[in-house]
Amino acid sequence: MSKKNQNKTYSFFSSIEKNFDKAAKFFSPEEKGILEQIKACNSVYRMHFPVKIGKEIKVIEAYRVQHSHHKLPCKGGIRYSIKVNQDEIMTLAALMTYKCAIVDVPFGGAKGGIKMDPQTISVENIEKITRRYTSELIKKNFIGPGIDVPAPDYGTGEREMSWIFDTFLSLSPGEVDALACVTGKPISQGGVRGRKEATGLGVFYGIRELCRIKEDMLSIGLDVGLVGKKVIIQGLGNVGYHAATSFHEAGAIIIALAEREGAIYNQNGLNVYNVVLHLKNTGSILNFPGSKNIENTEKALELECDILIPAALENVIHKNNANRIKAKIIGEAANGPITPEADEILEKMGVIVVPDIYLNAGGVTVSYFEWLKNLSHVRYGRMEKRFSENMNAELVKVIETICRKKILKEEKKIILRGAREIDLVRSGLEDTMISGFHKIRELKNSTGIKDMRTAAFVFAINKIIDSYEKLGIFP
Ligand code: GLU
Repeated sequence: MSKKNQNKTYSFFSSIEKNFDKAAKFFSPEEKGILEQIKACNSVYRMHFPVKIGKEIKVIEAYRVQHSHHKLPCKGGIRYSIKVNQDEIMTLAALMTYKCAIVDVPFGGAKGGIKMDPQTISVENIEKITRRYTSELIKKNFIGPGIDVPAPDYGTGEREMSWIFDTFLSLSPGEVDALACVTGKPISQGGVRGRKEATGLGVFYGIRELCRIKEDMLSIGLDVGLVGKKVIIQGLGNVGYHAATSFHEAGAIIIALAEREGAIYNQNGLNVYNVVLHLKNTGSILNFPGSKNIENTEKALELECDILIPAALENVIHKNNANRIKAKIIGEAANGPITPEADEILEKMGVIVVPDIYLNAGGVTVSYFEWLKNLSHVRYGRMEKRFSENMNAELVKVIETICRKKILKEEKKIILRGAREIDLVRSGLEDTMISGFHKIRELKNSTGIKDMRTAAFVFAINKIIDSYEKLGIFP
């Protein structure tokens, strides 16, 4: 078989099985049965449906996979890409199960996909396909606030989620919780503030936490903190963009940005906001003033840097390029960007890999907040914001009287402020990412597991086993 064909038949699902099996070694032989159950995909719905595009009838191939029902509803995004296939969607659904367990979000993992390139299809037709896909899910009971709750993923966003919600609502009249059938919706359609940037911001919080630990930084020869650290980001989509701006704001230097058409490099740092403006104006990141073009975009991954963030697609770091990676830290913002073979090479090279099943869980964490908001039918902060502000004002008055001193106007503004929805969402996300990081790190250090991925898997599997045990298995 030629090398090209070998790559074609590479199974993404078997790569996650390999990661799972590595972690399974840390469990007792009696747990074999339950481990097999956790590993398997519970339900795979593969569908074909016709859509009339112009005068022609096109047959659309699509999927929804529910990997685990140990907690309900199932949860996970829907991607639109010409590369969508069953193996990929099964893998991504499995990753969702572990992700949710790590960040303590009470859902089973799921994923959906439609095989199409949205960039070559008109908005009207994308809408038609999205609505038809949703009705197929409804027919088979694969969507609903307590059943399975989709969200955005590669190639989808607020617009598609809004269509899904509208289709669901029109086919379930009177369903008072219909808003909770999908997350990642626009704010005006029941979305939550902070969902859009959640995955990228979560990536930032996770890496920032790692960089705060002196011992870990010393082990790879880096200083504590993010200021001055050289960062490369692959993918300037929703996740990559928000991760990039957060690193930039925190004082890290974004030395390279990579997109499909190529990469740009400037060792003194790229201003991400200006790069995005340039992208909007010219349709490409290439030829950004003051930067050097790198035509082969994959080469950007191999540049000298401290932190590498693959934020695009799976399998971009593989056995053929892993030994050329020079980053000390790799943060998996995308799902599955490193193959298991590459993982082994990187481990030997001493690179710290912060795994996807933890690092990009910020999206589903805030999706959980959105789902809760939809079920409670009230915006976060609505009941307590004014009350806290009034209480704070009273407190300030008492302090001023006791100290016989006036607090400055600007300081007062900060102290008095009650929490808005965005403040609560950000604080919930930050706390989730920080505590998730320490849970994995503690488990890793206390068991002697060498890499964060295996520790994260062990942590997640433990949690799912516990859930099955408490639940019992239906006879
Ligand atoms: N598609 C995102 C992910 O892979 C978000 C899933 C969700 O919010 O349900 O994590």
